[in-house]
Amino acid sequence: MARKRTVAFSRSAVNLFFHILTRCNLNCRHCYINPDQHGSQTLPFDTIRCWLEAFQARSRETNLVLLGGEPTLHRDLARIIRMARKLAFASVTVDTNGYLFHDILDRVAPSDVDYFSFSLDGPTPAVNDPLRGKGSFDVCTAGIRKAVSRGFTTSLIYTVSSANIDHLDRMGPLLQDLGIARFFIQVIGLRGQSAIHPEAAGSDAPGQVSRGQWCDIVPPVAARIADLGITVTYPKVFLEPGEAFACAGKVADNYFVFPNGRVYRCPLCEDYPLHSLAFSDEMLRATPKINEADLFELAIPEGCVMNRLVQPGNIEYGPDGRPLYQIACCLLKEEVRIE
Ligand code: SF4
Ligand code: SF4
Repeated sequence: MARKRTVAFSRSAVNLFFHILTRCNLNCRHCYINPDQHGSQTLPFDTIRCWLEAFQARSRETNLVLLGGEPTLHRDLARIIRMARKLAFASVTVDTNGYLFHDILDRVAPSDVDYFSFSLDGPTPAVNDPLRGKGSFDVCTAGIRKAVSRGFTTSLIYTVSSANIDHLDRMGPLLQDLGIARFFIQVIGLRGQSAIHPEAAGSDAPGQVSRGQWCDIVPPVAARIADLGITVTYPKVFLEPGEAFACAGKVADNYFVFPNGRVYRCPLCEDYPLHSLAFSDEMLRATPKINEADLFELAIPEGCVMNRLVQPGNIEYGPDGRPLYQIACCLLKEEVRIE
């Protein structure tokens, strides 16, 4: 029987999300990459090494995720992965859309990479491809099968939106068939494509899901998939009555690094020049006020301050004007697995 637990924030673990480029071969409708804010350059190998070394003091506690854009478009990805292993990061994950450019599976070994993490937004091409691009379902699933057959451990990320939440339950058999070890459910945010070009997104654009939809569908589906032996992780989103709110920016160590040198502690801030750290002259330095760190200090009845600013539509208020529930930090996760 699968058991659920909330993954508490911890200062003893560091999560480093390193965008080594922002270029991508796909143009997903919910993509959060914003070149105006994140840069459009492909970081040279030496810069990546220098920036990774800035985190070396705590590398044994640091989970490194290499991502983009599409990171396999970087010609030096195999060298970057091996260098990360030498720097002794606790784990090394590569997030990919499944196109696996530059024969990356031939150029690294399963001992070099803890997870290849694939993105797929539906159990069939009919659901996935309108969101991620024609043919992307077939390419991604073929990439997963190839990775699994070579001995790599794989995970899969599914971004839930109004366009695919009703198909989430059909993912279980596919995940089993593909040999996926971990399943990450994400929730669409008002970032990237939909925030920059809402008019271009169109009236049938994937939108946010309601609290009712989320609570009725996601936790039960996660439990059923976990019963298949697959560990499932999803964001908490809505705090339950009596649950304490905490902002990861204050109580955890997460870093989101972009090619233009910006380093954020909060993903909801990534569409704005609110980063609290930045690389300059090859050093990681604090940025001047006002930045995201000032927002982390604000306490409001709605919970997350950035959510209140950028997506207030997901909060409901009672007749007395008080919020009916709090929005959790977007980094607070539920994990469901068989114990
Ligand atoms: S969501 Fe990922 S795969 Fe899709 S366009 Fe953006 S970077 Fe590329
Ligand atoms: S999502 Fe909200 S609670 Fe979490 S780090 Fe950002 S501001 Fe803090």
